[in-house]
Amino acid sequence: MAVPRPLDAIFDYTYDTDTLGEVEAGDWVRVPFGKGRLNACVISVHSEAPTLPEGVKLRAVEARLDPVFRVLPEIMKLCSFGSEYYQYPLGEALASAIPPKIEKPIKARAARQPGVSHSPRTLSGAQQAVSETISRIDAGSPGRVFLLEGVTGSGKTEVYIDQVKRVLDAGGSALVLVPEIALTAQLRERFESGLGVPAALWHSALADGQRQDLWRRVRLGEIRVVIGARSAVFAPLQKLGMIIVDEEHDPTYKQEERFRYQGRDLALFRGRFAKAAVILGSATPSLETLQRVKEGKIHHLRLDRRFSEKQLPAIHLVSLLEESPVGAGTVKTHLAETTIRAMQETLDRGEQVILFLNRRGYSQFLLCQGCGEVKKCTQCSISMTHYQKRPLLKCHVCGAKEPVPRHCHACGTGEWMGMGSGTESLEDDLRLVLNGAQILRLDRDLITSQQRLEETLDEFRAKRANVLIGTQMLVKGHDFPGVTCVVVVSVDMLLKWPDFRASERALQTLVQVSGRAGRGELPGRVFIQGYDLEHPVIRVVTGELDRNEFLAEELAMREMLAYPPFSRLIRFRFESKEESVSREVARGAAEELRRLLPEELRGRLLGPSEALLPRANGRYRHDLYFKSPGVELLYRAGQAIRAWVGDRDVDLIVDVDPYHS
Ligand code: ADP
Ligand code: ZN
Repeated sequence: MAVPRPLDAIFDYTYDTDTLGEVEAGDWVRVPFGKGRLNACVISVHSEAPTLPEGVKLRAVEARLDPVFRVLPEIMKLCSFGSEYYQYPLGEALASAIPPKIEKPIKARAARQPGVSHSPRTLSGAQQAVSETISRIDAGSPGRVFLLEGVTGSGKTEVYIDQVKRVLDAGGSALVLVPEIALTAQLRERFESGLGVPAALWHSALADGQRQDLWRRVRLGEIRVVIGARSAVFAPLQKLGMIIVDEEHDPTYKQEERFRYQGRDLALFRGRFAKAAVILGSATPSLETLQRVKEGKIHHLRLDRRFSEKQLPAIHLVSLLEESPVGAGTVKTHLAETTIRAMQETLDRGEQVILFLNRRGYSQFLLCQGCGEVKKCTQCSISMTHYQKRPLLKCHVCGAKEPVPRHCHACGTGEWMGMGSGTESLEDDLRLVLNGAQILRLDRDLITSQQRLEETLDEFRAKRANVLIGTQMLVKGHDFPGVTCVVVVSVDMLLKWPDFRASERALQTLVQVSGRAGRGELPGRVFIQGYDLEHPVIRVVTGELDRNEFLAEELAMREMLAYPPFSRLIRFRFESKEESVSREVARGAAEELRRLLPEELRGRLLGPSEALLPRANGRYRHDLYFKSPGVELLYRAGQAIRAWVGDRDVDLIVDVDPYHS
C-alpha cells in the first residue's frame, strides 16, 4: 500500500478476501496506521506474506472502499512517474488523483441539469486545414503532440471543439486543460453547444460532495468531456483520445504547494501513457515547447490571423519619463495625459476600457514621514500593503492583517505616508480623472470565489460597467467584445522581475493583455505605460523586433547559461525558524552536493543564498539551485540532499522545474 503521508515507503498489510471481497492494484482500502486510520492505495497484491523481521506482525486491512474510486492503470503510471520525477511520496501523489473523503459517500447538491443546445459552427478554411492535419497525423500515429500557435482570437477554441468532436464520435473521451482562472462557464457553454453533449467543469473550488459525484460520473463514462484546471490531468476519463492544454505557457499550470507538478508536462505524459493526442495551444508558446518543436518532437501548426480578419490592436507606448503624472498629489497612480485622453474617448463612444495593474491594495507600503521607517510584516520580509476602503494593513505573503497604526512604531510620533499605488487606489484615481466611469475590479481582494468571478465578468460583458481594473487574474482568455482600449499601467514591473523567465513571461502577459482589445466589431488600442520602453520585449510587442529573432536570442542565452530548456532545474529550499540553522544546513547541503558532482558540473550549482523572499510566515529561507544536465542526476541530487538533511531540524522543500523564485 502507498499511504498519503510524507514517507518514501510502501507498506504491507494482510487482506482477507473472504470478508472483504477481491481487491486489485489501484483499489483504496481503509487501514490502521500508527494510532489512527487512513485510506491507502493498493500497489500490488500477493498471495504470500513477505518475510518479516523477528517480532514484526502485519496489520490487517479493515475495509475495502468503493471500487469506483479505483485508480486507472494509466493514472497509476502517471502518479508513479510524477512521484519519482517531482520527488514527492507516491501515496500523496495518488491522493491527488481521487476526490476527498472517499471513505464515506457525500450527498451532492442536485447537479446542474444540462440543457445543452447544439449549434456547431462551420470552421473557416484555415481552421479546417489545421484540424484536418491533426486528424490525419493522429490517425496514422496516435498519441502525437501538436503545438497550435495562434494569436488571441484566431479561433483555436473552435479547432479544439472540432477535435474533441472527432474523438467523441469515435467513442473516446477528451480532457481540456485551461489556466486556473480562465475556468469560466462561458468556455463550457462553447464546448457544449459545439459538441451537443454535457461537459464537466473540474476545479478545486468544488465542494467535497460535488467532487465525488463528478468523479463517479466521469469514471462511469456518463461524462466524456472534462474541462478543468491543472488537477484535472488526473480525471478518471477512460478511452482518452485527446488532451488539450490551452495557453500551455501559463505559469498557473505549475502547482506551488505539496505535490509540485507541472500540469502541462503531466498532460504530455498522460497523453503518452494513454496514446492520446495532445494539443498545446498558445499565442506565445513557452520556450520549453518551442525547443521541443525544434527537436522534432512536437508537430507545429499555426493560425496566423484573427478569425474574421480583424486587426490586432494598435500598440501605443506612453513614456512615463516624458509625460509627468496627471494630478500629482491627488492622483496616486502615475497616469499620463495621453492614456487618460484615450480612456475618456473610449468611454464617450460607449465602449469599454480594461486596465492591467499587477499590484493589489491602496499603497504598496507606508513610510514614516518623520524617520523614514517602513511598516513591515513581523513574520515575513516584505512591507505590508495598505488598504484604505476597509482600513487595514495586509501582508501579501502570510495574509496577516493589522489595523493601521496612528503613528510610526519606531519614532512614536511620525505620520505615515502611503507610497506606490495598487488596484484599490487606481479605482479611486480613475473616478477623479474620468467622466462617466463605472468601474469594476478583478483582484483577489474582491474576487474570493468562482461565483464572484463569473458574476463580475458577466456584469462587465453585459456592459453594466465600462471600466475593468484587473491583476494577473484578468489576463487569461476572457472574451469581451465591447473592449476597445487596454491600458498596461506599469510595464516595468513585468520586465524587471528577478527570474530567468522574466522576458518570456513579460512578452506572454503583454500579448495576452493586448489580446483583450478589439475582439468585437470595433478596432482596439493598447496603451503601454512605462519607463524602459526600449526593452526588447516591448520592441517585439510593437512589431519593431521580430518575435522569432527575440526568441532565438532568448534560447541562445538560456543555452549559454545552461538554463531550461537546456537543463532541468531543481530547487532545494531550507526553511527554519532560526536564520542560522537554515543558512548552515543549506551551506552543508551545497558542500555535500558539490562533493558528489564531477568537476565540470559544479558550476551548475547556484547558491546557497537567501531566497528572493528571505523570510515568510516567520521562517527563514535559503535556496540551493542545481541545473541538472539530465533526469538521472536530478533524481540523484535529490536523494543525496534528502539523505544529508536527514532529521536535521529544517524543512526541506524540493521543487523540480520551479517557476516562481
Ligand atoms: P482563440 O481561442 O484562438 O482565442 P476563439 O476560438 O475564441 O479564438 O475565436 C475568436 C472569436 O471568433 C470568437 O468570438 C469565436 O466565437 C469566433 N469564431 C472563431 N471561429 C469561428 C467559426 N468557425 N465560426 C464562427 N465564429 C468563430
Ligand atoms: Zn507576513
